[in-house]
Amino acid sequence: MRPLEELIRPNIRALQPYSTARDEYAGGEISTWLDANESPYDNGVNRYPDPHQRQLKHLVSRLKGVREGQIFLGNGSDEAIDLAYRIFCTPGRDNAVSIAPTYGMYRVAADTNDVEMREVALDTDFALRPDALLAAADERTKLLWLCSPNNPTGNRFPTVEIEHLLRAFPGMVILDEAYIDFASEPGFLGRLDEFPNLIILQTLSKAWGMAGLRLGMAFAAEPVAELFARVKYPYNINGPTQAEVIRRLTRPVDDQIAEVRRERERVARALAECRAIERVYPSDANFLLARTPAPDALYEALIEAGVIVRNRSRVRGCAGCLRITIGRPEENDRLLRTVQNFRP
Ligand code: PMP
Repeated sequence: MRPLEELIRPNIRALQPYSTARDEYAGGEISTWLDANESPYDNGVNRYPDPHQRQLKHLVSRLKGVREGQIFLGNGSDEAIDLAYRIFCTPGRDNAVSIAPTYGMYRVAADTNDVEMREVALDTDFALRPDALLAAADERTKLLWLCSPNNPTGNRFPTVEIEHLLRAFPGMVILDEAYIDFASEPGFLGRLDEFPNLIILQTLSKAWGMAGLRLGMAFAAEPVAELFARVKYPYNINGPTQAEVIRRLTRPVDDQIAEVRRERERVARALAECRAIERVYPSDANFLLARTPAPDALYEALIEAGVIVRNRSRVRGCAGCLRITIGRPEENDRLLRTVQNFRP
């Protein structure tokens, strides 16, 4: 890895972050809050929330086995994706490398930030090509985007290949583990201290069932996590979200995850038997990618039956493919009935 100072955009290296009224408050018995131009009329949300999300980070740190200083919390993982470009990439000059197909926001955020995105196609059966990814990089490549388990392909990449990339890539490696709770092997969170150039993204939107609250997490070495804290909006996680997540994080979701995994295997087996399906790709996520000779017609037939899936057949590398999220058992049955009865 190149020295962190060289990877950071010069203006961010020099940035003096905004100091909120709540930053300046140094503790003590305060009963009269006249520092932040808030409304004094208590309605539950009239005060600004904690800009550092201390209580929430404490809980996340215990849950994930990381130090509080290694955590950034954002308005979904999408916030962390955007901030990664703003921290590391000078617009119009630096570039990023990513696998393809993968989650679309890496490219949209690159385009928004005027950063060139170099996409490297996955191999047959969506296998990683570590050497091709490294070959796509040059001295202006700051970020390498990996997603494992990958969206929309569903597969997880071999640990040794990710390790190789972490050691060989000189910039920051962003490993998106949005779907790791559904995978059969643990991710890289326990190994954060081994890789100073690793940023792991996770989210409460999937296995934790809190997509509506918008809470994404980035985990990285303290100096990197500090950069995210420096550039974020001061109050990026609103008060009700902080309170609601704190309340819900103490309720286990293990049974739901186990059911989704069981259902994934059941649906995969049943789809593989269907005449309309050519191939069901192996998945470590909460969705399946299935290839069919008639993706548009099957997609329409499902809509007719009141079932919506994601038509990915126009995504490069995914010709003929529909991405099917695993639902509750009765929802999966409804999907299966339609696919079983489908005649193009
Ligand atoms: N990463 C991946 C791989 C995703 O598939 C998604 C959402 N579909 C996200 C991140 C975004 O998650 P969030 O809701 O935390 O913004």
